[in-house]
Amino acid sequence: MERTLSTYEAKCRACGSTFAHPSLGDLTYGEMLFCSQNGRSYVAANGLSSFAQRVRHVLGDSQSKDFWRILAALTIQADGVPYTIEIRCPVCCAAELEYWDGDELGMVAVPDATFPDELLINEQALSTKISALSQAA
Ligand SMILES: [Zn+2]
Repeated sequence: MERTLSTYEAKCRACGSTFAHPSLGDLTYGEMLFCSQNGRSYVAANGLSSFAQRVRHVLGDSQSKDFWRILAALTIQADGVPYTIEIRCPVCCAAELEYWDGDELGMVAVPDATFPDELLINEQALSTKISALSQAA
């Protein structure tokens, strides 16, 4: 599955490059875009999916603030580059932006986030993985 989203201008504070990033806009509930750490790929994650609910359950209330960060880290990577909840500059990979959600620039197809089969079916594997990611924070 993928969806077509509008892209908007952002400017990197570190290298001064301007680039286009997709946005879900204001009409979405329970969804977030993840950006790869090199700024080159985006996926859309549904925080209400059954897998996302399992992740919430494993995290519990005390770690619920880490939910999106953990879900991004569990997403199957593009070209071996992990996903993050930040918009990253595709030129220098910095996360510090001068602005984002600027002028509308165009459209882009954004695929849905996918997760490893092992984590989808194996409760123990999911708990172990989340626990490792929580400690890395
Ligand atoms: Zn940059």
